[in-house]
Amino acid sequence: MGMSLVEWVYEGSCVRVGFTSRVGGVSEPPYESLNLGSHVCDKPAAVHANRELLAQELAAPIAWMRQVHGSKVLPALLGNEPACDGLMLGSTMRRDAQSGSRGESDMPTAVFTRMRTPARAAAVMVADCAPVILAARDIPWACVLHVGRAGLLGGIVRRTLEDIVPHCTVEKSAGGLTSDDLVAVVGPCICGACYEVPEEMAVQAEKLQRGSTSLTSWATPSIDLRTGVHVQLRECGLSEILDLNRCTFEDERYFSHRRATREAGIGWGEGRTGRFVGIAQLLC
Ligand SMILES: [Zn+2]
Repeated sequence: MGMSLVEWVYEGSCVRVGFTSRVGGVSEPPYESLNLGSHVCDKPAAVHANRELLAQELAAPIAWMRQVHGSKVLPALLGNEPACDGLMLGSTMRRDAQSGSRGESDMPTAVFTRMRTPARAAAVMVADCAPVILAARDIPWACVLHVGRAGLLGGIVRRTLEDIVPHCTVEKSAGGLTSDDLVAVVGPCICGACYEVPEEMAVQAEKLQRGSTSLTSWATPSIDLRTGVHVQLRECGLSEILDLNRCTFEDERYFSHRRATREAGIGWGEGRTGRFVGIAQLLC
């Protein structure tokens, strides 16, 4: 004991943000050893033990989600694992936000919020996708986002900042939140020099999100999640971005689905490996 499972990279007055790695935990190969994904065929008892170790270190229960490569964001509540790609801490949505500004039924509802206990810590699981965490500087509010290719092109970062953040009411904040109140933290993800995709996919991606494509180090078309995320953040007026600039495919401290697939010598999409997490925790 005593070894920290989380590298805390941002600590404000009310929120801290950090990331786990492969280090710690009890999972066996190919999930060694701090696998926090319950959907990757690791032993359920090992994943449960790892999640318990993490909650112990935080001294707080953690809200988890069943990520589906969409752009739905929900309030982080304890005791369920909803299908969504973003969890929000410390906020209740205003009632007038329930209709949604884009005519879709993605908005969290007051009814849903009342049924369960709001969490004070939430996790996003990744192994090449980008963990993006929005944290309020002086207010107890944060949002963890799962941003893979589909999430990026679906505009999960933009939709969160445009459609959800302004409707969030938080104790100590007068009106809704704005981008000026927030810091964005971009965690370890596969980089543009490593994330090869078919050329037609890259062409389509660039149409949907400017800046989301690049070239691999071997000069083939690629997706650049990190740059795409930065473009969405800046277009929404968020200027304070803390990016760890670490590539999961290259950095063996982290789980990487692509690296596992390459090592297994089989086609993309077949690699078995674990998931590390980005975490936000409220401190006040
Ligand atoms: Zn890379």
